[in-house]
Amino acid sequence: MIDELLLLNRNSSIGDALRKVDRNGKGCVFVVDEEKHLCGILTDGDLRRILLQNDCGLKECIKEYVSAEFEYAYDTEPIEDLNKKITDRIRILPIVDKNMYIVDYFEMSNKIYVPVAHPQLHGNELKYLMDAFLSTWISSKGAYIDRFEKEFAEYCQCEYGVTTANGTVALHLALMALGIGAGDEVIVPDITFAATINAVLYTGAVPVIVDIEKDSWCISPDEIEKAITEKTKAIIPVHIYGQPCDMERINKIAKEHGLYVVEDCAEAHGAEFDGHKVGSMGDIGCFSFFGNKVITTGEGGCCVTHNRELYERMRILRDHGMSPERKYYHERVGYNYRMTNLQAAIGCAQLEQIEEIQEMRNSLDNIYRQKLKNISFIEMQENNLEKRKKILWLFTILAEDEKKKEWCMGKLKENGIDSRPFFIPLSEMEIYKKYVFSSSISSMISKRGLNLPTSYDITEDIVDRIAQILGEREN
Ligand SMILES: *Cc1c(COP(=O)(O)O)cnc(C)c1O
Repeated sequence: MIDELLLLNRNSSIGDALRKVDRNGKGCVFVVDEEKHLCGILTDGDLRRILLQNDCGLKECIKEYVSAEFEYAYDTEPIEDLNKKITDRIRILPIVDKNMYIVDYFEMSNKIYVPVAHPQLHGNELKYLMDAFLSTWISSKGAYIDRFEKEFAEYCQCEYGVTTANGTVALHLALMALGIGAGDEVIVPDITFAATINAVLYTGAVPVIVDIEKDSWCISPDEIEKAITEKTKAIIPVHIYGQPCDMERINKIAKEHGLYVVEDCAEAHGAEFDGHKVGSMGDIGCFSFFGNKVITTGEGGCCVTHNRELYERMRILRDHGMSPERKYYHERVGYNYRMTNLQAAIGCAQLEQIEEIQEMRNSLDNIYRQKLKNISFIEMQENNLEKRKKILWLFTILAEDEKKKEWCMGKLKENGIDSRPFFIPLSEMEIYKKYVFSSSISSMISKRGLNLPTSYDITEDIVDRIAQILGEREN
């Protein structure tokens, strides 16, 4: 229901109109007839002009002063069209049904913005979810769990999959299964989401933060080599923003020093290095299916591996450490890190569309690169590095410096376009500082970076608008 303070009967006086405008705080009233059909709009500016130009009093009826021409929208119009109608001049827009009956209004402050990411749920998601629900297998056993684990592992060119409640616990589970704990060191990149380092800290091991490569933005193999000590047990390469790490060099280093490799693939479902899918190149690969990732289960995660022993260990640890042979007998302190059958049902439907989703994202990547290439201050993440097949997670650009990045984010925001700052290097956060080994490139890149909207419904028009907004200062 629309607030009565916004509505004014067309037989009211100018004084009534001014009082309503004063009280509703919107700077205008919608003029309606007895049946609440919209007849016009009066803004406080209009009312001032009427009083000044017509030499009339406050008691006079507004009816003859209401202009027949005004902006409104139908309740069937898509939100994008409403957005277009809202401008600096028209800050509030009445919404009517086909009979001109007023039903709602739209204003500058709820001008819809283009979000950075939102999931694409256009396949069998609801169907499978209903099916899982109606089967009553809504907890962590059920046909969709088995199917999703099998199919996702297959997609990653791996033998085994262990689904989890989210990507963070997938990392923790992997490290636990490898026996990592107090007294060990684990090497992580300075640029990542904090879950990577948190998972290391959960185990009691000491994380060692190393710098990234300048072109790929992934963990630097040179820095890994320098940071290795006798205590080093594992490396967690993070395939950042969809860019695969140099797994050839990382695996070579790991082999030379007898280290485990846990791939953090939370942002890179389907990316490849030298024809191998991410997740299949280390001892264990960990994925997240959070709502903003390439595919989603709402919350969710998965560990993939070729190693049967690790697989079995992860399953036991995920299920309270309970012996598979002897019910309620616990061999280790375990966890409840399970995914539900409901989440897996969504996952199965998402997986059916993953190629299509990848294709869409690829084409968006190309559109962005094409449209932004002439803006001289913008640099983009390399997408053609040797042997690496990058996928698009969040489209990310670097501005020439921090000030320019802030200018970009501000300009986009003014135009209703959401953006995100680059990950803050772990080395710049108080709680992680003490674990830093090296960090100069990461802090330089992070200051300049921002993520642009990356979803299936970002059209060429929206990218054009973004290019126009960002290119503005140059022209
Ligand atoms: C999202 C993300 C995670 C954590 O995944 P959740 O499912 O949100 O717990 C871990 N690592 C990286 C690099 C991520 O981007």
